[in-house]
Amino acid sequence: MRIVMKFGGSVLDSPSKIMTIVKIIKSYYDNEKKPEMICVISAMTGVTDRIILLSEQIVRGDKKAIDNFVTEITQNHIEILNPVIQDPILRSEAREVILDIIQEFKAILDGLVLISEITPRSLDHMLSFGERLMAPIICYCLRDQGIDTKYFTGKEIGIITDSNYGEASPLMNTTKFRVSSKLVPMIAQGIVPIVTGYIAGDQYNHTTTLGRSGSDYTATIIASCIDADVVYLWSNVDGLMTADPSIVDGARVLEEISYNEAAEMVLFGAKYIHPRALEPVLDSNIPLKIRNAFNLDHPGTTITKNLKISSNIVKSIIAIRNTALLDVGGGGMVGAPGTAASIFETLANNKVNIMMISQGPSESSISIVLRHDDLGKAIASLELKLLGRIIKHLNVLENVSIVTVVGSGMRGIKGIAGRVFTAIAKSNVNVIMIVQGSSELNLAFVINDSDCNKAVRALHKEFDLDH
Ligand code: ASP
Ligand code: MG
Repeated sequence: MRIVMKFGGSVLDSPSKIMTIVKIIKSYYDNEKKPEMICVISAMTGVTDRIILLSEQIVRGDKKAIDNFVTEITQNHIEILNPVIQDPILRSEAREVILDIIQEFKAILDGLVLISEITPRSLDHMLSFGERLMAPIICYCLRDQGIDTKYFTGKEIGIITDSNYGEASPLMNTTKFRVSSKLVPMIAQGIVPIVTGYIAGDQYNHTTTLGRSGSDYTATIIASCIDADVVYLWSNVDGLMTADPSIVDGARVLEEISYNEAAEMVLFGAKYIHPRALEPVLDSNIPLKIRNAFNLDHPGTTITKNLKISSNIVKSIIAIRNTALLDVGGGGMVGAPGTAASIFETLANNKVNIMMISQGPSESSISIVLRHDDLGKAIASLELKLLGRIIKHLNVLENVSIVTVVGSGMRGIKGIAGRVFTAIAKSNVNVIMIVQGSSELNLAFVINDSDCNKAVRALHKEFDLDH
């Protein structure tokens, strides 16, 4: 049995939480079946955000911010050692390791503030320290419990990515070869490698990061490289849910769900997993288990390919808030090839991410839904480049929400859209825009944000998701 376990920042920020996860690891390690195990460790809660803030302070030339930061981070990572490592020799070794890493970090920060410039590449280098500080702590805690461990960065075990700093993608062929030749002999000897999540290296040996929440991705990349039997993502939530429990009282944890459904849910903002983390395990069919480290009695959610036949057509209702709708139109758009391309190109060049698109067959307008934060950029770029030429009007609707109904059981079943929109109409909510992908895995529509909770509750009830 080969297991990859990932521990998120939410389970790493206090001595008692660290002891909880150490106990979990030990219980698997001591199992008589002696599984081969690899642990992937995130940064402590808030540390990644803190480093991003520091990078902004460095750009402003704020030298004092570095001192404050270093004091803070030293305190957080050193104080935690006392209660979690009993053996004084191991504890002082851990302390040395942490202080060395902080010293290296400080030297880099002092250099960066001198030029007051942060590039995507140097930011990734800075960000890597969050995980680099946490992995040795867990490693020494486990040694203190008699477990044979070694810690590594993702780069050291051979995860190679492209150079798209901040959102790098693994080059899977090279990565597979390197990671398996590094890790497989080690786990065969009973060593438990502790690997930093989130960080990797490109072909020039520069540090890269896999995007926020990237530790999930590290875990599934490793799992696919060593052909693991299962991946556990440990955090402080019970699992993926039928709806946001702060909207629907009767929201439930989903016991089992397919890769495709989980991908839809994640892409639609159920912020539990890195959006690309499912890719590496999809083909190899390795199940993913989302588990709560503080609620071991709860079985969590299992994401797999082979689903037991489920009676639920719809699995989950997801709301994405803080979005805005742009309606771009003009008679000149009708029958003119390249119109959509120039609109999207303009938005792409200005780094506006598009969430939803629809165009009716009359071709006289295109509706685009985007994050509210991107709205200013989107309007300015379209006005500057295209207004008065290809497009004649630009209407904006702020404060809208996207509601998505997700479930692979919808495919080929008649009447789902009818049920969705009847339920919505009965709760007196007006639908502004509708999109369904031809995969029929999801049906998404846009409504006023003030109607959002009402709509989600109505659909949760319509598809009987409380039961
Ligand atoms: N520390 C990184 C983040 O906060 C990666 C992770 O937690 O998975 O995004
Ligand atoms: Mg995190």
